[in-house]
Amino acid sequence: MSQIYDRVALIGLGLIASSMFWAIKRAGLAGEVTGFARSSETRDTARRIGLCDRVCDTAEEAVEGADLVVLCVPVGAMGAVAQDIAPVLKRGATVTDVGSVKRHVIQDVGPHVPDGVHFIPAHPLAGTEHSGPESGFAELFDNRWCLLVPVEGSAPDAIARLRALWEGMGSNVDEMDADHHDLVLAVTSHAPHLIAYTMVGVADDLRRVTDSEVIKYSAAGFRDFTRIAASDPTMWRDVFLTNKDATLEILGRFTEELFALQRAIRTGDGEHLFDYFTRTRAIRRGIIDAGQDTDAPDFGRGKKSV
Ligand code: NAP
Repeated sequence: MSQIYDRVALIGLGLIASSMFWAIKRAGLAGEVTGFARSSETRDTARRIGLCDRVCDTAEEAVEGADLVVLCVPVGAMGAVAQDIAPVLKRGATVTDVGSVKRHVIQDVGPHVPDGVHFIPAHPLAGTEHSGPESGFAELFDNRWCLLVPVEGSAPDAIARLRALWEGMGSNVDEMDADHHDLVLAVTSHAPHLIAYTMVGVADDLRRVTDSEVIKYSAAGFRDFTRIAASDPTMWRDVFLTNKDATLEILGRFTEELFALQRAIRTGDGEHLFDYFTRTRAIRRGIIDAGQDTDAPDFGRGKKSV
């Protein structure tokens, strides 16, 4: 794979940024990768493990001269970071992000992007419940989707270059409109996370009356929920605060379905339950057929992605 950008700057050095760095290095996609994180602790860790060719003490220093700047901080922090780096962005450079919500990022970051700089929001649909500079790995994006969400005026050649970077990191790439993205992700990621958080919260309340048996005898279904519910609290707080409408819409539908299933259980309507579970099983088959998961029994042990 050949070099796509001379210099890439990663702002925020957590799971996604560190995985991008290792994936960029694996394929030789950039001449130099600079990095910045707000805490000296994270910057020290990055220097110790060789994460980034150059770790800088300010975001401005990392961004100076970069052809591509990737905002890898929680969604709620994107606007402030964009404001800080705006004065030093190189003319002709591209600013992108990896945030899990797109409409809000466009509203917060867009106004800070100067004329002559491209802005192309993006979202890799890959992650784990781990966070921080040591959690990344080069294979995270392999065969996962990355959605590009171009805004009005995004230049086709700048989009093509960013697409090539994500493909070089192993992703399949699609383009999507911001509102559609936020609705799709509310269904596939945001609402399921909230449900996992709730289920684990309920079990935690129950634990007090069952003497830790919920933990001791935790079955595969519950263990999967606990893995998802271990995800970074800051990131997920920001997701729900910034994708409010779509998440509330999906949760409304979810509670209606839940009530219908609850009624079927109460009235002994086995046919309803059986038909419902048959339909949902087909969705699992579709995900496996699309290559987005394997059907190997996993029991929550070897799994990397959420
Ligand atoms: P992470 O591992 O928790 O790392 C977050 C990074 O952002 C850290 O370097 C942190 O700095 C920095 N940061 C946190 N708050 C900040 C603030 N207020 N101002 C400036 N910097 C701040 O997070 P991640 O999982 O890589 O997520 C990064 C982005 O990717 C998020 O927008 C998230 O929505 C998106 N995303 C995540 C996943 C996933 O599964 N994790 C998947 C796809 C997309 P310090 O270390 O110095 O505190």
